[in-house]
Amino acid sequence: MSTVSDNFNWLWLSVKRVRLGKPCGTTQIERQQRQESEIEEFKRALRVAMKADITQSILKLLACADLDQAMETAAELTMQLTASSAVAVLMWDHDMESFSDKAVFGSRKAELFELVERFTEQYEPAMQKVQGLDPADFAVDLKEGLSPLECYRVFEGQLLVACILIAGPSDDRLLELEDNLAQIPFAGALGRAWEFRELKRENERLRTQYEHLEDSISAMEEQTRKVIHDLTAKDALHTRKVERERLVYSISNAVRSSLRLQEVLQTAVDQIGRSLSVSRCILLRQLEPEVRLAAYEYHSNSQSSAVELFDSEAGLNFLRKAMTREALQDLHDPSTDTQSMYDREFLRRLGLRSGLIVPLILRDRKVGVIFLQDCESTRDWSIDDTALLGFLADLLSVSIENAELHQERERQSVTDGLTGVANRRHFNEAFILEFERAKRYEQPLSLIVADLDYLKKINDSFGHQVGDEAIKAIARVLHEGSRSIDLAARYGGEEFCVLLPNTELEMAEQTAERLLKKISEVELEGVGPISASIGVANFPAHADEPDGLFRQADEALYQAKQSGRNRVCVASKALAAPGGD
Ligand code: GH3
Ligand code: MG
Repeated sequence: MSTVSDNFNWLWLSVKRVRLGKPCGTTQIERQQRQESEIEEFKRALRVAMKADITQSILKLLACADLDQAMETAAELTMQLTASSAVAVLMWDHDMESFSDKAVFGSRKAELFELVERFTEQYEPAMQKVQGLDPADFAVDLKEGLSPLECYRVFEGQLLVACILIAGPSDDRLLELEDNLAQIPFAGALGRAWEFRELKRENERLRTQYEHLEDSISAMEEQTRKVIHDLTAKDALHTRKVERERLVYSISNAVRSSLRLQEVLQTAVDQIGRSLSVSRCILLRQLEPEVRLAAYEYHSNSQSSAVELFDSEAGLNFLRKAMTREALQDLHDPSTDTQSMYDREFLRRLGLRSGLIVPLILRDRKVGVIFLQDCESTRDWSIDDTALLGFLADLLSVSIENAELHQERERQSVTDGLTGVANRRHFNEAFILEFERAKRYEQPLSLIVADLDYLKKINDSFGHQVGDEAIKAIARVLHEGSRSIDLAARYGGEEFCVLLPNTELEMAEQTAERLLKKISEVELEGVGPISASIGVANFPAHADEPDGLFRQADEALYQAKQSGRNRVCVASKALAAPGGD
């Protein structure tokens, strides 16, 4: 590959040959003609030489996609063609109306820099295509060898593409400068490389903008995510709060509006289980004095009922242990929790993964527990949850106490305090209802009236308390000796009644005899046996309304007293048949 200096040597040799090969003319005209022909020949040789020599450079220039490389190649070509010491290539940006890229080449490029700077600042668009410049115009003093200074402007159509400043071109080349440079496809190569560079710049700008945009979008996304997260968290918090308030309200409402404890407790376990999304919520109570367990259960759709598991010795044991604790107690997966105080096999049968036991404590009395179970996943109970459960447990404990008090009041209002059998009020109500029923269904109804014999004597001899014991003994015999559908009641001081629904007179009389016998078997400590007198009457045999029936039974009792006590008398006065005299 030929170097630039090789090309120049070859070029000068060609020129010399042209000059030496022609003999000198004689006349001025001949000399002039010869000179002109020599010059033409030189030009041709120069063109040929240049063409041959610069083909590679032109090809290289045309192949340049990179602007720096294109500018350098353009500068090399210019230096080749002009034999100059330094060349500056300045790319014109017509949108910005200024030079966008500039580069100086050649052995003395450093000396041209200052002038290039000034030139770009003072550039006049009205310049000619090729124009000699005066360095003084740019307040620069160019050293020898760098002048003359020529500016060659490269156009693409009407548009300026670049300015090529040529410092110190050879005099010989000055003549043909424009022609020679015009042959080089500067405009196409530089314009294309510049556009490519511009595209790259634009691309870079867009990429930077895009990255910036992406950053902003990411930041916005992050911010949006955070806002959504905060809002969701707030919303969830609010929803939970509302759910808790609803739960408290609905359980308080159930407690307030119903004295039916079973209804209240079932509502409570349903609401708690559903609100806290547990697998099961079971409320357990140990009923005393019997060892009996009352359970109320909620279970989710995906879980089966486990209440039957508690109806066993293992279930009772679980409750007994749970009720020894006064604080809420976490239960862990029984397959891994080796420290559990509970029967792990029992917990495994429940399918428990984690659980919470909430005690129901009323003042010092433990009345039961709420047992929350998670069978599908483990759960860490929040302070909010445990506080809520504590509050609800207190509420339910109060409800249990209220219901118990209510039941007790109910019981007391119909029960005789001394004997525990029904009192007179309850007897009267039941008597009227049973009479109506008997009449409606045409069923018999019998009444037994019993009175302790010689109670006054017992009182007087052994004291009032012993008298009470005698009364209680009779009540016990009447209650235990009658059927569950019968009603034994204390009617007055030592007078008792037994109401026998759907009972014929004969059966009532037999019952009365049996009761009389059982009373006579009672041995009162220090007193000995006691006895009673009994009167029996029957509907429809002796009366067709309650007062009449009572009167008849009472008269029979009087009869029993009169005839020596410790006996049964049946009402003697049969009711006249309807329509009879
Ligand atoms: P009778 O065999 O005729 O029935 O004689 P009695 O002494 O049982 O009957 P009476 O009507 O003469 O006296 C009833 C006594 O029962 C008088 C009263 O002080 C007593 N009495 C009434 N209620 C109670 C009570 O709750 N406890 C005790 N200890 N005595 C009572
Ligand atoms: Mg008496």
